[in-house]
Amino acid sequence: MNCIFCKITKGEIPTNFHYEGERVIAFADLNPQAPTHLLLVPKSHYENAAELAKGDPNALVEIFSAAEQLAREFNLEGYRTVFNTGAAAGQSVFHAHLHLLGGRAFS
Ligand code: AMP
Ligand code: ZN
Repeated sequence: MNCIFCKITKGEIPTNFHYEGERVIAFADLNPQAPTHLLLVPKSHYENAAELAKGDPNALVEIFSAAEQLAREFNLEGYRTVFNTGAAAGQSVFHAHLHLLGGRAFS
C-alpha cells in the first residue's frame, strides 16, 4: 500500500516527531492552517476515525491524551481538533489522523 502516513509512522520518511507513544505519533502539518497545526496519527492503518474506533479504540484514547499533552507543551490556551472523513469533507490522506490546531482565534 502506498500510504504516506504509514511511511512516516515507520520512519521511512524522515520526520520530526513531537510525540511518540505506543500507538500514536504526532508531527507538524506540511501546510499549516494555524500557528500550531499538528497531526496525530495512529501507527496502525485505518482509513478514517470511525474505522479506527472499531479496530483500535485504544489508539483513539491515546490520540486525545497526546493532544492534551501537546497543547500544554505548545502553550495553547484552547485548541481545535478535527477528523475529516471522506473526500467531500476535505480528507486527502486516507489514513486516520486528528488535526490539532491552536494559536489563533477561531470563529
Ligand atoms: P486531510 O486533508 O484531513 O486528509 O489532512 C491531510 C493533511 O496532511 C493535510 O493538512 C496536509 O497538509 C498534510 N500532509 C500531507 N502530507 C504530509 C507530510 N508528508 N507531512 C506532513 N503533513 C502532510
Ligand atoms: Zn497508512
